[in-house]
Amino acid sequence: MLRITELKLPLNHPEEALAAAIRNRLRITPRDLVRYTVARRAHDARDKMDIHFVYSIDVTVKNEAAVLARFKRDRHVNPTPDTGYRFVAKAPAGYAGPRPVVVGAGPCGLFAGLILAQMGFRPIILDRGKVVRERTKDTWGLWRRSELNPESNVQFGEGGAGTFSDGKLWSQIKDPRHLGRKVLSEFVKAGAPEEILTEAHPHIGTFRLVTMVESMRATVEALGGEYRFERRVDDIEVATGADGSRRLAALHLSTGERLATDGPVVLALGHSARDTFAMLHARGVFLEAKPFSIGVRIEHPQSWIDEARFGPCAGHPDLGAAAYSLSHHCKNGRTVYSFCMCPGGTVVAATSEPGRVATNGMSQYSRNERNANSGIVVGIDPARDYPGDPLAGIALQRQLETRAFEAGGGAYRAPAQRLGDFLAGRPSTRLGSVIPSYRPGVTMTDLAEVLPDFAVTAMREALVAFGQQIPGYDHPDAVMTGVETRTSSPLRITRGDDFQSVNTAGLFPAGEGAGYAGGILSAAVDGIKIAEAVARELVGRPVLA
Ligand code: FAD
Repeated sequence: MLRITELKLPLNHPEEALAAAIRNRLRITPRDLVRYTVARRAHDARDKMDIHFVYSIDVTVKNEAAVLARFKRDRHVNPTPDTGYRFVAKAPAGYAGPRPVVVGAGPCGLFAGLILAQMGFRPIILDRGKVVRERTKDTWGLWRRSELNPESNVQFGEGGAGTFSDGKLWSQIKDPRHLGRKVLSEFVKAGAPEEILTEAHPHIGTFRLVTMVESMRATVEALGGEYRFERRVDDIEVATGADGSRRLAALHLSTGERLATDGPVVLALGHSARDTFAMLHARGVFLEAKPFSIGVRIEHPQSWIDEARFGPCAGHPDLGAAAYSLSHHCKNGRTVYSFCMCPGGTVVAATSEPGRVATNGMSQYSRNERNANSGIVVGIDPARDYPGDPLAGIALQRQLETRAFEAGGGAYRAPAQRLGDFLAGRPSTRLGSVIPSYRPGVTMTDLAEVLPDFAVTAMREALVAFGQQIPGYDHPDAVMTGVETRTSSPLRITRGDDFQSVNTAGLFPAGEGAGYAGGILSAAVDGIKIAEAVARELVGRPVLA
């Protein structure tokens, strides 16, 4: 099979146009085109008067060698890459060795658990939160009734942080082994729409994620894996050898259980496990502070974004709700960018700690809510902005989230401001034409009181610059809601080439919380990599970093 990339067709092309375009591109007759499948489809809307699709197509032709030879200098016609997944190890039949433990049932832990189960190692998966259906009720409890359950919320519980999200499933990580393909294929088996395998920017929305997570749990259990919910890892025991080397010996759980760990333990904690990070630091596990970003969520009517992006094609069913990605380097040396943009979605309360407010965004598959929302965040780094120990970034997050709670007036209401007032440096006293979607509600105020001055200065400059890229983006009525602090982990649990903690053998840090992923897909891919490292450790094969 061969793959053609960058095959362009107009937005409203009929189905047959694809076959004709393939024949023209390869200069073959209809008889020589045996079959084709779409490998990837993106739309190019850079010129809104000429929006078109860009395809990658896998094609079976008669006499493939001759066709490939004819195009050997053409970088858009090549043999189709092998994207199939192969296990790096398998448990021997009747495997009676140690069962690996995975802490965290978010995308990273879920895929670590799934791959280990598929390899025959019968993992035990622990999560501090509840099964996804129970967790859904608790999460809505905060949004509808201002009741936060610190152990069962947007951040904690089965499915992890990505469960109540836009479900965007793309990432910019390098992926030479096509592990992202394995993730998407497993999602399709678990109930995701097949289009995620071909769309360049697939998303699945919140409701489907819930059922997919349940389906994947059933698969893991059928393969001998085991889930244990409402078990928070509160402490670890580390054994120190005569040479000073350290090895994980046991986990202590919130239920009072002690789980001896003679095998590997994956730590897929997510970025909000602040208490667990503090415990690991106290127990001497090597952690280091890393950069992250802070800011607010911004909302515009989705119709404004559609029009700015798609012009006369706004509302075209094949285009869906328009997305955007913005970035601006400011005079004060800071970079401001849009983060986790959710077309046709809502801003959600995403705190896991009492007395604090943090925002994020989510959507349904249809993406048909009134507003587009996105984080508008400023990059910060440890040396300049939160010097001190590895936990200093968490202290900064907490400080900003507490200020946001207070500025919101309590009950998890969030502070909000019209963009025009933010630029003019005056508090907002009323809403304009844009109605914010955050629940349990907003309090109009001055976000400059909540965020550090450098962030406010940078955001004021960037928002005006964004208005030049997307007309109307800096409309005075756009609403900003704060604070966006959980953009990524503020620390790294550093691992070595063998994927284990650099100073505590047996601990395999992974995913977003450990600083090795950002987003659902990259966390899941890291889950596969960590499962492979664990499997190699269990069967005594060297790890290939
Ligand atoms: P997590 O998903 O955070 O999972 C960590 C798990 O560990 C949790 O289930 C938690 O309960 C458990 N845990 C923590 N501490 C302990 C402990 N001590 N003991 C036992 N269990 C513990 N990303 C995208 O790519 N696309 C999106 O559209 C998107 N939208 C988002 C919307 C929202 C509202 C949020 C909050 C996040 C969104 N993200 C999105 C980010 C994405 O969810 C994360 O990048 C991803 O979930 C990280 O996966 P993870 O497995 O590393 O960690």
